[in-house]
Amino acid sequence: MKKIIVAIDGFSSSGKSTMARQLARETGYLYVDSGAMYRAVTLYALRNGMVGPDRSLDVAALVRALPHIDVAFALASDGNQHTLLNGEDVEREIRLMEVSEMVSPVAAVPEVRRFLTRLQQGYGVEKGIVMDGRDIGTTVFPDAEMKVFVNASPEVRAQRRVDELRAKGERVEYADVLANVMERDRIDSTREESPLRQAPDALVLDNDRLTREEQMQWLLDKFHTIAGD
Ligand code: C5P
Repeated sequence: MKKIIVAIDGFSSSGKSTMARQLARETGYLYVDSGAMYRAVTLYALRNGMVGPDRSLDVAALVRALPHIDVAFALASDGNQHTLLNGEDVEREIRLMEVSEMVSPVAAVPEVRRFLTRLQQGYGVEKGIVMDGRDIGTTVFPDAEMKVFVNASPEVRAQRRVDELRAKGERVEYADVLANVMERDRIDSTREESPLRQAPDALVLDNDRLTREEQMQWLLDKFHTIAGD
């Protein structure tokens, strides 16, 4: 069986991370959550005074700071992969609403995108990787052997996010989360640099209509066909 690159793209909270993580586990591939990398850079900006009270972003300061930002992953004691920002485990903080609210403006900065795209491409050198995000099949790995675009309605995605956040003990309102999901969709699909769009050669997975087991079966079938196993 040959090693391939699997690129999974889609809107926020479409369930793509869960799918990508599970596919990586089933196939023994490396999993990389590219959204976590944008979230880690956003957390850095928030912690270092680069976001004003009106949520304005000091783009120049962030661009100057990029050489001092190190984003990496490590297997934590809970058995899951956690995101590290300059060596610190920030897995919990990067999922907070204040980060979600600033991540799309940060991800729209071309220098941030180029910085993280290079890092992401480094993970793919030896293939055998599943990466999920917004521009993996279009910009990061345009030659990926398997590209999947996950579709789900904003309402289904917002409900999924509410359930996840509440399970972690965060107090959130459905309406606020829905507004955040829709605002991120808007910014992510209209930005100049690498906007979220479906690669012409992507397989489309409609998440609203399939159970988790059905999605996994669908993904594994495609994977084995493409990887030739
Ligand atoms: O996947 P997740 O929702 O955690 O991603 C957070 C944000 O990071 C997205 O809303 C998007 O703005 C940005 N992102 C991106 N390109 C990627 C992955 C994420 O712009 N490849």
